[in-house]
Amino acid sequence: MACSSARASGTRIEGHFPLEFVVPTPKAATKFSVDLDRAPFTVIWEVTRACDLRCLHCRADAQRWRHPSELSTDEGRRLLEQVRDLESPVFIFTGGDPLRRLDLFELIDYAVRLGLNVAITPSGTPLLTPAVVRRFREQGVRRMGLSLDGPDAESHDAFRQQPGSFLWSVTALKAARDCGLATQINTTVTRRNLHKLGRMAALVGDLGAATWSLFFLVRVGRAQECDQLTSQEFEEVFAFLYELSQRVPYQVRTTAAPHYRRYVLQRQTEERRRQAAGVLPLLGTIPQDVPGSMPRAVHGVTDGRGLMFISHIGEVCPSGFLPLVAGNVRQASLAEIYRTAPLFQALRDVTKWHGKCRDCEFVRVCGGSRARAYAQYGDPLAEEPLCAYEPRSKRRGASVASPVPQ
Ligand code: SF4
Repeated sequence: MACSSARASGTRIEGHFPLEFVVPTPKAATKFSVDLDRAPFTVIWEVTRACDLRCLHCRADAQRWRHPSELSTDEGRRLLEQVRDLESPVFIFTGGDPLRRLDLFELIDYAVRLGLNVAITPSGTPLLTPAVVRRFREQGVRRMGLSLDGPDAESHDAFRQQPGSFLWSVTALKAARDCGLATQINTTVTRRNLHKLGRMAALVGDLGAATWSLFFLVRVGRAQECDQLTSQEFEEVFAFLYELSQRVPYQVRTTAAPHYRRYVLQRQTEERRRQAAGVLPLLGTIPQDVPGSMPRAVHGVTDGRGLMFISHIGEVCPSGFLPLVAGNVRQASLAEIYRTAPLFQALRDVTKWHGKCRDCEFVRVCGGSRARAYAQYGDPLAEEPLCAYEPRSKRRGASVASPVPQ
């Protein structure tokens, strides 16, 4: 289809790695300390690119058939052992559609037995039956992420280019809710659905999801430039999300928009200032650590800095939206690639970056989307092209107190 015009509570901001992370559990919050120079917080394995959907913005440009050179079951098992050795708190099976792999349940079983915190992101197709959802739960999957790009069948199925996808997805989400499997609803924000986010937020609540994660389009795969928001529209969506997060029982997160962390810090600083001046009443907030949550990085994780992606043929990239290959698990270990590949090292070293992100006081909690910088400029170390913020160092004559503890 052509383009139409179409709180974390208890978090700490630190200036230096290693960062600390809060791991919410049904009983208590546990702290993880992850040195992002040594290990990624989240490892994502694209087990296959095969998928029965044809989504307009598919990152993977998913194909109908499985690739003959996909990692084998044995290679997958060795990969999972490496993830265990890295002690990364989150591991995600993704695709394509992971359910197109016949050995998926064998791989899940092995990952759970290794002690990984396993999440999975299947596609909304007839393969995702309530029985399959219950099997995820029985096998020990901690969370199922599923895409809903519109609040109704008409808008979602148009995105997915597959009539019925909305119904299959909602049925699976209800099955997960009924059997106690925590869910995350992923929504790609584009110019097509910007005006429907309010209805989406209500649907996420109705479906009992633990998290609503909004993905801000990166021009990769089948995604088109004209679907992308402007930097001002980013700010408007951030404002909507921040206010929503104060009154819903689910977590609100963003993907490929780390500058939402900057926005939250700015708002919290402003609110503290107004409360101190007696302008704003002190309000209670709804705790966002909900039962069934996956370990959650509170800040600082972005492409190659706490995030690692392995493609269906073993290529290792900083994320699924930054298609630069730093090595292959068939030739080198995950730890070696993550710690020593020049690309990964540069993505963790802000002194090597260019543009306003390098000089921004929010760089360690935000850093901008390295994937979008690459998509826009062909340079993953360039500045985030869709951030409206002007760092203090760039503002002539301005004297603004930093909301980031130095
Ligand atoms: S300028 Fe870069 S680091 Fe600063 S808030 Fe914007 S995207 Fe984040």
